[in-house]
Amino acid sequence: MAIGFSSSHHADLVQRDRHVLWHPFANLALWEREDPPVIASGEGVWLTDVDGHRMLDGTASLWVNLLGHRHPALDRALMEQASLIAHSTFLGSTHEGAILLAERLTDLAPAGLTRVFFSDNGSTAVEIAMKLAFLYQKYRRSKRGKPIPATFFSLDRGYHGDTLGTVGAGGIDRFHQVFGPLVRPSVTAPAPDCHRCPLGLERNSCALECADLASRLLEIHHEDLVAVLVEPLLQAAGGMIVWPSGYLAKIGQTCRNLDIPLIADEVATGFGRTGTLFACEQEGVSPDFMAVGKALTGGYLPLAATLVRESVYDAVREDPGTFYHGHSYTANPLACRVALATLECIEKEDILGAIPAKRSQIQDSWSVLSNVPMVENVRYLGLIAALDLRLKDGSPLRTPAILSAIRETARKTGLLIRPLSETLYLIPPLSVTLAEVRQMADILVETLRESEKAGLFEGRS
Ligand SMILES: *Cc1c(COP(=O)(O)O)cnc(C)c1O
Repeated sequence: MAIGFSSSHHADLVQRDRHVLWHPFANLALWEREDPPVIASGEGVWLTDVDGHRMLDGTASLWVNLLGHRHPALDRALMEQASLIAHSTFLGSTHEGAILLAERLTDLAPAGLTRVFFSDNGSTAVEIAMKLAFLYQKYRRSKRGKPIPATFFSLDRGYHGDTLGTVGAGGIDRFHQVFGPLVRPSVTAPAPDCHRCPLGLERNSCALECADLASRLLEIHHEDLVAVLVEPLLQAAGGMIVWPSGYLAKIGQTCRNLDIPLIADEVATGFGRTGTLFACEQEGVSPDFMAVGKALTGGYLPLAATLVRESVYDAVREDPGTFYHGHSYTANPLACRVALATLECIEKEDILGAIPAKRSQIQDSWSVLSNVPMVENVRYLGLIAALDLRLKDGSPLRTPAILSAIRETARKTGLLIRPLSETLYLIPPLSVTLAEVRQMADILVETLRESEKAGLFEGRS
């Protein structure tokens, strides 16, 4: 599958990669035949490979990059901290960067989240929320002489990470089913995917019925539940499912009524991706736990955080007194300083205020797709735009080889994307300019046109 711009240096690196590396979420047999980009550098929303081929970063480096690559303020924060110290342990000592960042995060987060526990990836931030929710419930229930719950509630097609605890709460069969024997399954409700209603209803009734069904399930199971775990507004890995408005508020209200802790997994949605700093804000929901990661450092360094209520801290302080959990790189000083700079830039550069105009560029470019039979369910949220692909026979386009050919067509034209099964999406760094975001959207339209000409939608791989 040579794409015609690879040097011998590129070929040599790819060859050596194949011998020694194992890439995440890669179908191994397919990967061995692919000719992946070998990224050498980046600037703003552009990535450059070792051959000097420039590509727009259409996934924000898989949802992490917020302000572009090589942002001067972020680079500076990193260098300044590096000139002092790169890392020292957070077990038994502290540092100013972590303190400032925790103060900033608790200021910006939904009301009531007053404590920050740092870690270094989203899965772990969620896992920490799950463990703390368990300790909190254990404390509350044993005080009342009640049985201690040990089951979580989560949604079908949910994704909360790859550690075993989070896999138990995951609902993407392709990723999670095989590990079933190793994990505690959660109680699940259908994802509110109103385009393809899990209950077989029309869009409007779907939104209501899915929320009612989730609430009824919560009522039935609430005594057995440690917590409810959701990705507010957007189930990204599950297929860029955008929730109907009101669904999150209803879940939040039901949790409150039944006194079940709510864990908001904002690892993908946090820091402006959905148009507000946190997705929960849009429906006035204040969760009891919030996990953030990905864009926290603007996409520079691995850092994640679990924000909790003071009552959770107080409960664990009483019993068991110590939270036996921590990581070698907890609150890494380089990452904390870059995160602080990221939060400062979001405000200074009015990143959130500029989102609607940027989204309009995509909507405008994609308006020609409304009568293309291979495209359905075009949807937008914040600066996220997604569509689903169908073959000519109407079935969802899920053949990995065809999807990879579509991806390669975009790459040749200068756009790096990563289809999620039949879903194509754009998640640009929020700092993208109007012209660049237009270019991304246009290349995607052009890619679909070329793919059709090449017969990729005929249904033969
Ligand atoms: C990416 C993601 C995670 C896992 O984060 P990692 O840093 O990849 O471990 C968890 N939850 C959601 C919603 C995510 O999108």
